[in-house]
Amino acid sequence: MEEYELVIGLEVHVELLTESKMFCGCSTRFGASPNSQTCPVCAGFPGTLPVINKKAVELALKAAIALNCKISSYSRFARKHYFYPDLPKNYQISQYEEPLATEGGILVDSRNIRIKRLHLEEDAGKLIHPEDGNFSLVDLNRSSVPLIEIVTEPDIKSPSEAEKFLTNLKRVLEYLEVSDCNMEEGSLRCDANISVRRYGDKGFGVKEEIKNMNSFRAVRKALEYEGRRQIDCLKRGEMLRQGTRLWNDTLQITEEMRKKEEAQDYRYFPEPDLPPLVFDNRMIKEISSQVGELPLQRKERFIKGYLLSEYDADVLTSKKDIADYFERCVEKAGRPKIVANWIMGDLTALLKSTKTDIRNSPVTPEYLVQIISMIEQGNITGVVAKIVLQECFNTGMPPEKIVSERGLSQIEDEEAINSVVKEVISESPDAVNDYKSGREQALSFLIGQTMRKTKGKVSPNIVKNKLLEYLNK
Ligand SMILES: [Zn+2]
Repeated sequence: MEEYELVIGLEVHVELLTESKMFCGCSTRFGASPNSQTCPVCAGFPGTLPVINKKAVELALKAAIALNCKISSYSRFARKHYFYPDLPKNYQISQYEEPLATEGGILVDSRNIRIKRLHLEEDAGKLIHPEDGNFSLVDLNRSSVPLIEIVTEPDIKSPSEAEKFLTNLKRVLEYLEVSDCNMEEGSLRCDANISVRRYGDKGFGVKEEIKNMNSFRAVRKALEYEGRRQIDCLKRGEMLRQGTRLWNDTLQITEEMRKKEEAQDYRYFPEPDLPPLVFDNRMIKEISSQVGELPLQRKERFIKGYLLSEYDADVLTSKKDIADYFERCVEKAGRPKIVANWIMGDLTALLKSTKTDIRNSPVTPEYLVQIISMIEQGNITGVVAKIVLQECFNTGMPPEKIVSERGLSQIEDEEAINSVVKEVISESPDAVNDYKSGREQALSFLIGQTMRKTKGKVSPNIVKNKLLEYLNK
């Protein structure tokens, strides 16, 4: 592998979060019954005329600005012709020579991956191939859903860098609320171009386009496989031919789909039914002001402002909602590191196991702050706090109420603690002997027994000290 390097570029299609389609008023809601969200415009009836969705244009502009692109003051739609059953007009309205934006970029581990262009277009419909029939069905609900296509320069040098680029891109688009970026529902799709060349070569090798990858991990796997395949071919002295390959996730290989397709095959020409998009500085300024803090900036601020580790800051800013939740807690409670640990540990586990979005967490920031301050004030132990969090998550009850109703307050009465410790010691002669003959682990067992008897209501430190006091008598 050493004598060759990989040259990778990505093409990402992102469905925009609009209520209605790109050129008609039909709903874009995912999962509706087939062909229930169509009209003569998006079904491609002759004689119908498209009307541009203003919201889609604004979202595309917002994305372009956040991705540091140069906004074209004048851009135009174009027809891209091809014949396929999911494309009722036999052409897709896209942008070609005059895209909405160009020359942007995203930082990946401090390296700028350049974005060549960002343009608006409409999605195609969907074909369904039932397994028990020799026919296919057409669903046009997705036909004409607004998309942006983001094309990078071939700046990416490794499959893992491609995966990171996509992760960062997704974060930005989610922060902007430009798209839900749900890959399972096809809101974010990615194709990759890859070629190989000898280190030091300036020219490009023969590239293959890979399609059909439905996770960022699959993109990485497909690029790893395809890079190795191309290098092996060259080493055997074989010629590579430009074409398109499909990723087979079951077999974990890429398979040839078709050979080379040229832009002129699409017979692009300017869309005569739509006016050009013209933006003035005022409009671009106004959209820029809506962009707000981006994930990378927020991460830096979390590291500097809250003294969090890079890892913690990365996890907490991975989604805007998580970062917002964290900041609401810290505003009230301070203690950023402790808040971070609770969110990233127990709360995330509960959210994941119940597939709950942090926005809908029954443990609100106010409740998490209550739990943390009860520990700090010595009202409850850390062990009990975990139980309270779980209970609060299950019932939505305020933590303070859970503690008082279930009698979970910390036991501080020394007499009460002494009597439990004595009880444990007299009930566990074996462990006591083990400890006295030098087996330290026996102490953990005794601590565990005591914690169980007090239902975790005594601080483990106090228990440990009390036990040692008795054992060393
Ligand atoms: Zn429609």
